Amino acid sequence: MPRNPNAEPKPFVLVEIPKEAPDPRPVATHEKFAGLTGRLEISFTVVSEYLFVGSGSYEFDPNHRNQRPDVWYTFYRRNGQLCVPGTSLKGAIRAIVEAISNSCVSQRHRRENLRSSHHQPCRFRDIGSRLCPACRLFGTTGYRGRVHFTDFLPQGEIKPEIVKIGELWEPKRYDPTKRRFYERKTFQPVGSLAPQQGFRFVEAVQKDSKFHGALLFENLSEAELGLLLHALGWEPEANGYRTAFTPKLGGAKPRCFGSVEFRPVRLRLWSGGVKGLLAPREVQGKDLLPLLSRYLQVCRDSRLLHEPSCAALKEGLKPKSERCPREVY
Ligand SMILES: [Zn+2]
Repeated sequence: MPRNPNAEPKPFVLVEIPKEAPDPRPVATHEKFAGLTGRLEISFTVVSEYLFVGSGSYEFDPNHRNQRPDVWYTFYRRNGQLCVPGTSLKGAIRAIVEAISNSCVSQRHRRENLRSSHHQPCRFRDIGSRLCPACRLFGTTGYRGRVHFTDFLPQGEIKPEIVKIGELWEPKRYDPTKRRFYERKTFQPVGSLAPQQGFRFVEAVQKDSKFHGALLFENLSEAELGLLLHALGWEPEANGYRTAFTPKLGGAKPRCFGSVEFRPVRLRLWSGGVKGLLAPREVQGKDLLPLLSRYLQVCRDSRLLHEPSCAALKEGLKPKSERCPREVY
């Protein structure tokens, strides 16, 4: 029974946790130089109405006579410049990798009442430990991952805006058989910028804002790099890729913030040459697309990609014309 019969529909995408157990394998060590090591430069464009990546602090303007925002949560900055920190991207992309590769469920609030005994978080004891695909890539306690993101900086001038949104409430109950993402619907403005109980203000960047940064990786197989590319929302197309879905970053996702579309810019690979010397190889432009297509396809063929979960996420993240809930749901 819904608590409130007039409640607006919940903006969730639910992806079933597969019945089959994850396929844990031994980890790749950092000492040995094997596989793909390098950096993929990427950019993203905000495709929802807003993106908000909080800094954890706020600013205030008390002399407003209740006409203007009095307190607002500020956007993250590095040396005074707006920035989306690499940790924010890593968290978002990891959650997608976990879902589309049938990995363990690493987030605490979901694991507390997780029904599948197969999907409990991996434990790393020693180098002989076997980990799920996501933990092998991103790490777990005791095992440093092989994937990182740089901080992403604005491309061109970006002017943030103070936006009023309904307070955010985490649902009390989680469905223990599903992973939860947020839909891509239309943001509903809430009217005047006057302070009001049950609402908050956030400093957000607008649709079409662009950021640029890189994905850093070491000792990956082609399938593993392909898995990361799938998690950026891409799928293989003849000699290239196409956007299958747009991942979400940052906060206020329940208010339909944070959808971004990723684009590849340049790939730099370090390959082992004679006597272990490393030689960089840079690939960009039309040479880059067939290579990305290959990694995406190898990932599919290797079954590292859990196709039904990926299809469910793609379907659920399609843009919808409905409005996002404005208030508590
Ligand atoms: Zn794991």
